Amino acid sequence: MIKLSENVQRIAPSATMAIDARAKAMKAAGEDVIGLAAGEPDFPTPPHIVEAAKAALDAGFTKYTPAAGIAELRAAWADKIGRERGVTYKPNQLIVSAGGKQAVYNVVHALAGAGDEVIIPAPYWVSYSDMAKAVGATPVILQTRVEDEFKLRPEALRAAITPRTRLLILCSPSNPTGSVYTADELAALAEVLIETGVPVLSDEVYDALVYDRPFVSIVSVNPHMYELTVIAGAVSKAYSMTGWRIGFAAGPQHVIDACADLQSHTTSGPNSIAQKAALAAITGDQSMVEVMRQEFDRRRRYMVGRLKAIRGLACFEPTGAFYAFPDVSSTFGQRYDGQVIQGSMDFCRLLLEYEKLALVPGSAFGNDRHVRLSYAASMAQIEEALNRLERFVERID
Ligand code: PLP
Repeated sequence: MIKLSENVQRIAPSATMAIDARAKAMKAAGEDVIGLAAGEPDFPTPPHIVEAAKAALDAGFTKYTPAAGIAELRAAWADKIGRERGVTYKPNQLIVSAGGKQAVYNVVHALAGAGDEVIIPAPYWVSYSDMAKAVGATPVILQTRVEDEFKLRPEALRAAITPRTRLLILCSPSNPTGSVYTADELAALAEVLIETGVPVLSDEVYDALVYDRPFVSIVSVNPHMYELTVIAGAVSKAYSMTGWRIGFAAGPQHVIDACADLQSHTTSGPNSIAQKAALAAITGDQSMVEVMRQEFDRRRRYMVGRLKAIRGLACFEPTGAFYAFPDVSSTFGQRYDGQVIQGSMDFCRLLLEYEKLALVPGSAFGNDRHVRLSYAASMAQIEEALNRLERFVERID
């Protein structure tokens, strides 16, 4: 038997993708499954973006591009990201990657290795800890509290930093909790980072999706953070372009250069046609972004209202991204159809089996008391999903 490397043996498959695949397989087999497990907008990609891709194809733009992305896209994105955050990025301070995921992975790989520590507040996006493990580093998971809206407190950050700490990964707006850091909260964390010299990878994939409060990047809250921040983002969520696979990382030039070197040896750069589409997305008409944001907001209010009304569930108010993260732990130790619910995995397994509703167990995000529902689905699906969830919880005894 061929032996796998130690780094690869330490990682687990993405739980969200696995659950989504199971729900899709059940659906394909003719079952009436509702999937609220995937983090994917249900809107089509806006037509002017699709047209730009068609034009690229017709123009024969089908060859390798520079490994770090085409110059126009690097320049336009660096300008947009910097302008929106009140800092200046030169085009070579931004690398275009195959989705936000590759951008995040490149940065983790460029900054951490064997024996290093990467601080990750929980609940966290599924891939961070496995990415740290994949490069041989140790993820240091810091639990946050619902009372703090699941945000990392500066004293907890300070206590976790050791001489081996190479990186903090922060995600705001957050997947899975939907919480959004304020400028004051980020400034308090920034103070600790500046004092200790620890850099932050700020995952801002959901920057366009905030409700009731503004989006703030940690790079904006203190001038010293410019040298310590690497931002990751993508066109995936804001422009409903998940399948196009275009994201970016922006930050100090030597970090971006290292990511570009790495990328040149792994993928040779992002897809040429998708880069032209992304250029149209970020430089073209932005009105669809706001239309989608408002629709997500409407669904958010509806979903959270319904969740709060379900007996025994407690739901924290999300203010960003497109997820709700209710606490279902009051059902633990009780039975559904004679089967004991011992944790979020049992809850989701029984819910999928009996009510054909796919959610993600909080255990996938480092918090077993909660489950994640995505409201990136049609209102009709959300309504039916909540009817099913309500019925499921009512039958627990
Ligand atoms: N970061 C977070 C927090 C995400 O939720 C996701 C996607 O679900 C990504 C990064 C990756 O985005 P992309 O689809 O552009 O790779």
